[in-house]
Formats: sequence, C-alpha cells, structure tokens
Amino acid sequence: MFGRADRDRRSRRPILAWLGFVLMVLSFVWLQFLPPILRRQAVNSPATDEPFALVVLDPGHGGQDSGTMKAGILEKELALDVAHRAERLLQERGFATLLTRNDDTYVSLAGRAAIANEQSHCIFISIHFDDAARPAATGVETYYAAHQTSSNPMRVLSWLLFLHRTAFEPPNAESQSLASVIQEALVTHTQAMDRGTTPQQFFVIANVRHPAVLVEGGFLTNAEEMNKLATGDYREQIAEAISDGVVRYREMLREQRTPLAINLPGG
Ligand SMILES: [Zn+2]
Repeated sequence: MFGRADRDRRSRRPILAWLGFVLMVLSFVWLQFLPPILRRQAVNSPATDEPFALVVLDPGHGGQDSGTMKAGILEKELALDVAHRAERLLQERGFATLLTRNDDTYVSLAGRAAIANEQSHCIFISIHFDDAARPAATGVETYYAAHQTSSNPMRVLSWLLFLHRTAFEPPNAESQSLASVIQEALVTHTQAMDRGTTPQQFFVIANVRHPAVLVEGGFLTNAEEMNKLATGDYREQIAEAISDGVVRYREMLREQRTPLAINLPGG
C-alpha cells in the first residue's frame, strides 16, 4: 500500500540533496561576488592613486548601548568625541573620512562592517575604551583580526572544496601593520602603558574586507587613566595618535610600492 509512495520519496532524496548542494554553492557565490557588484560609490572618497584616501572611523557603541560606564563617563561618548577629533585631524591632512555613526545612535556591528565594505580603498578604525575587574589594569592596546573577510576569489574556491576557510588566505599583514603603527603612535602621544597589538577575532574588524583595527584607548576602571580620559587634551592626543598612525601606514604602503615601480621592465 505504501510501497509506491516510499519508492517515490526515496528516488526524490538524491535530487533534494543535489538541489540543497547547488543552493549552498549559489549562496556562497552570492555572498562572495554580489556585494562588490552592488557596491555603492564611496560618497566622499576622492579619485586618487594613493594606496587609500578614505578612513572609516567607527566610534564604538551608541544609543542604548553605552559600553563601559564609570562615574558618569560613558564609553560611547568618549569614542564619539575621539572619532570627531580624529576626523578633523585626518581631514586637515587631506584624507576623506566616514563615520559609522555621527551622533548618539545605535548601529549594529554588522551595519558598521557593511558601511566600510561599501567603500573601496579605505581603512577602518574602531575606537573603544576598556574595562577590567582589576582596577590597576591600565594602558593602550590595538587589536587586529588574524583572519578577515576578503574579496579574494580563492576563498570561494576553498569553501567549494570544503577546505578550512583560512587555507588560501594570506596572513593578515596589512591590518597587523596598521595596528603596529597606531599602537606606536598611541604610546608616544599618551605615554600610557604599552599593552601592544593583539590578534583577536572581534566581529566588527573580522568582517571588514579592508585593513581594520580596533583601538582600546585606556581603562575607565583605572581611576588615574579615567581622570586623563575626562580631559579634552588627552582625548586630542589619542586622536593625534590615530591620525599619525594613518599617515605612517600610508607611508609604509608607498614605500612598498616604490621598489616594484623601479623593477618594471623598461621603467
Ligand atoms: Zn567598547
């Protein structure tokens, strides 16, 4: 009585499995290739042959998400203030800037990464302040993601071959370099303790396809550091450090390009 129906169902199974596989492959291809096709033109990025001309600044938290709070000081407000200062300094140095939020509004982490991913030839800097259970914890630190979303087509291939996603990805030297120069400038400008650069898969930097770092500009849970952070002068030093780091990073990229130009045949 059920024999025919069973056979039909069984014969449909391989077809469904194949359909599932094809849909999976199509969705990977969609994720990898469609966003660049649909990418909107950078609004304020001038045409240039510089390695990058746009700096996307990402003030952490915002809206209902205050971040760390200590003695009436909110991480989200410090981050926005430093981002506005860095924006001014970078513009004075000829960079175009784009903020993931311009005021006290909530933007999701995916939304922040998407704003950067809509742009071409930019770098991404997320600005945060730290907290720790230990009140003595102090200093500045810059994070980069060891593995980032990339527009590298080899990644699609690695997915299709069911290999580990990092199999074909080069180590993330660009973001690591950006983190190093910003960290160096932060220590120089603030004289704060150097906590170094650390690879960390924070969503907001791991999902950006450009060089991306996350700056922790000091601990709100450290009384001495918080008193400094409460002053505009100190926040200006953090912004100066970000701006200096960006300039240094661009110099590094220019230096990397120069030997290539010399070695060109006939050049
Ligand atoms: Zn934060």
